[in-house]
Amino acid sequence: MRKLGIVAALAALLFTLHSPATAQVKQMYWTTSGMFGPFPITDLIPSVPKDKARDVTIPVSMWIIDHPKGLVVFDTGNNVAISDGGCKSYWAPGNCDGLRPSQKRDDVIDRQLQKAGFSADKVKVVVTSHAHLDHIGNIKMFPKAIHVIQKKELYQAWWPEKFQRAGGVFVVGDFDGPARDFTYLELDGDYDLFGDGTVMVLSTPGHTLGHQSMKVKLASGKTIIMSQDAIWMQENLDGYPAGLNYSVKDYTNSVNRLKMMRDIENADLFFAHDQDQFKAKGNQWYK
Ligand SMILES: [Zn+2]
Repeated sequence: MRKLGIVAALAALLFTLHSPATAQVKQMYWTTSGMFGPFPITDLIPSVPKDKARDVTIPVSMWIIDHPKGLVVFDTGNNVAISDGGCKSYWAPGNCDGLRPSQKRDDVIDRQLQKAGFSADKVKVVVTSHAHLDHIGNIKMFPKAIHVIQKKELYQAWWPEKFQRAGGVFVVGDFDGPARDFTYLELDGDYDLFGDGTVMVLSTPGHTLGHQSMKVKLASGKTIIMSQDAIWMQENLDGYPAGLNYSVKDYTNSVNRLKMMRDIENADLFFAHDQDQFKAKGNQWYK
């Protein structure tokens, strides 16, 4: 009997050694930094045909990811200064009139974290999809975090191509001053954030030079892909390309990459700015 006990203990030990990593994402929350709109969908996607055109009011997606090794925020939304009608004090007037942001102070990422039961200074990692004003807006609220961004995107933010500069969609105030001295994990491609395959950063250039998306495998086995601006909304998947791209070729490859990944892994694919998808599936926890 005693021998059998030892064999059983050894077997249990071996099983433990060979079992996959146990750290898993407990939960994640999908929220928005206020809304943009209403405005005609063709302002963003000029290729949408007349019979499919409509006015949209779209979310500005941000994600809170709760991994046992640390709390992650994916995109920090619009800068706090544009809250409660303050847009023109911080953004170019054209962006305020065009995007029509409705952000309230309570919509900003620090308050959203509070609402979800966390404080901003507990955030270990901030992943920024790209340096446009509605995604990198509040990195200065996270001076102690490690900031994960593609190296090219940092370069581009400081010196965007002229055709991307005209619209004022890179707001230097979002990432100047103290943000110059933050700790940046500067990537050149995909990255396995916690080394266990559960939280992946995916290189998806095109919308900007160094855009990145994310993929999370939840403890439940469900896989969630967050495209952010690699795919703004369903119309882009339906074959109408976004109207603002650094490279149409890279953008097309990134859309196809995420679509195939969704199909192969049977994942949910969530966009940054889809009115209908957010209405149905936003403002909630995923477990
Ligand atoms: Zn965006």
